[in-house]
Amino acid sequence: MYYSRKRLMADLPEEMTAIWSCTNEECNGWMRDNFVFSIQPVCGQCRALMEKSEKMLPVVTNTSPNQVKR
Ligand SMILES: [Zn+2]
Repeated sequence: MYYSRKRLMADLPEEMTAIWSCTNEECNGWMRDNFVFSIQPVCGQCRALMEKSEKMLPVVTNTSPNQVKR
């Protein structure tokens, strides 16, 4: 289990991804823009406002494991 997870992580390409980051300097909360459904999201950890930003993240597809095409 551990090995397959590690290899999967290593194989994932990364790209600049739009995110929202928490404006509270003491909080490192952030979320992917893809997963935000309101115009002005608030931090899930401290409820502060969030601002739009970018971050290098592994590319995520919205495909569940049993829908992977071969
Ligand atoms: Zn926060």
